Amino acid sequence: MQEKTVIVGAGVAGINAATKLIDNNYQGKITIIDMGKDPYNRLPEEVMTGMLGAGGWSDGKLTYHTSIGGQLSKYCGEEKAMELFDQVITNFKRFHPKPEEVQCSDPQAEPDFIKPYFGLRLFPVWHVGTDYLHEIGKNWYDYLKSNGVKFIWETKIEDINFEENYVLWKKGLANVSQYYDKLIFGVGKSGIDFGKKLAEKYDLPTEPKSVQIGVRFEAPQHHFQKLIDVSYDFKLYQKFEDKGVSLRSFCTNNNAAYVAAEHTYGDVSYNGHAKKDEVYRNDMTNFGILMEIKGIDKPFDWSREAVKKLQINEKGIYFSPSKRVPSKTSEGGYVKCVVVDSMDLLYDAIGDYALHIADFIGDMNKVFPTLGNDWGIYMPEVKYLSPEPLVKYDDLSLTRFPNVYFVGDALSARGITVSGAQGTYVAESILKDGK
Ligand SMILES: Cc1cc2nc3c(=O)[nH]c(=O)nc-3n(C[C@H](O)[C@H](O)[C@H](O)COP(=O)(O)OP(=O)(O)OC[C@H]3O[C@@H](n4cnc5c(N)ncnc54)[C@H](O)[C@@H]3O)c2cc1C
Repeated sequence: MQEKTVIVGAGVAGINAATKLIDNNYQGKITIIDMGKDPYNRLPEEVMTGMLGAGGWSDGKLTYHTSIGGQLSKYCGEEKAMELFDQVITNFKRFHPKPEEVQCSDPQAEPDFIKPYFGLRLFPVWHVGTDYLHEIGKNWYDYLKSNGVKFIWETKIEDINFEENYVLWKKGLANVSQYYDKLIFGVGKSGIDFGKKLAEKYDLPTEPKSVQIGVRFEAPQHHFQKLIDVSYDFKLYQKFEDKGVSLRSFCTNNNAAYVAAEHTYGDVSYNGHAKKDEVYRNDMTNFGILMEIKGIDKPFDWSREAVKKLQINEKGIYFSPSKRVPSKTSEGGYVKCVVVDSMDLLYDAIGDYALHIADFIGDMNKVFPTLGNDWGIYMPEVKYLSPEPLVKYDDLSLTRFPNVYFVGDALSARGITVSGAQGTYVAESILKDGK
């Protein structure tokens, strides 16, 4: 009988998994179920769901290093991880309407002027461009559909029975179930709650995690131009190993840089994206100042509590010492936030850890002398590292359910290339099984 592979989540991980299977003449039936919309109907404000998931409206930067974007080499080693990254990047180019416009930035040396305050992570980044992602999504979708992949859109999986191998959703008042032989679980950040619920229901063993929290920093681009010329997506970092704390600038956007409000667990947090088209140019720079804190008991609950304390009227908050106003989104409205007149709420939310963020900004003032108070911060930016279920490293299957594979942000990824590569890695093992 034909093997049935069900993929929950048409995000970067799920789509790359399906593509690897199709490209290799997989004989089973692939069904992809997503709570969002197909790329022809997905709206720009649907940031997290639909074809290519959060990657579909991201800023389209494909990082190319195993220390960036979550974990992969832990499972498969450095060399294999790089090979999997190559496959993901090739896919984005392959479905790109203008692949010749995909460029790679590859900084080679740390500039002296940032020393001794910061280190700079050096690694290549492929720039796909947010505006093209949508077109990529359409081409990719058409390819998979024409090769027999079945998509079920606007369908939220409510439960999964790992013991009897079926996923369950609601249609009106009726429950609908779909049997699987193999299940790829790639629900991304928008499905973190769901993943956590399943982990609790099945008492899945997990790996310890750190807290990742901070702010989205925004300022006119000219203050940072000297560094942008060295590294477009610069990653400044500071480490305080004795305190279990490290900080890094995260996901830098320039030229046409927009701050995006994300909704996770009903709370607002911030991220950013960059447009490529000149009409969107605003000459701004934004990046996360993200702090990794190790050794916090129940890091997930701690982060959620902190995020809740940074909400006012169902919005996140914004502070600028020079009273800059929050910027506009690429759709023309203002970024959803409440303006406050100090960083006090950040101290209330994360205690003295906020000092590290204030110091990071202070040190940027020393390194970028024109910056002064010409900046604003959106609070919070957060990366929820949900309790990571323990998987078998050679195929990312759950240690207790060998036909269930966790991939992407639902496992340990935090970026497009790593998520896609994890999906590809799982597909390779499914293909091997079929031989
Ligand atoms: C604004 C923004 C900008 C970003 N920019 C970058 C960037 O430039 N570079 C980078 O590397 N990363 C970036 N990221 C992160 C990146 O997009 C994610 O790491 C990546 O998309 C994760 O892939 P995934 O497949 O695990 O999940 P996703 O791509 O998030 O896909 C998960 C899918 O699962 C679906 N889903 C969730 N729950 C259910 C359910 N119960 N039933 C059915 N479907 C469900 C969702 O609808 C979604 O389509 C950005 C993220 C955001 C939000």
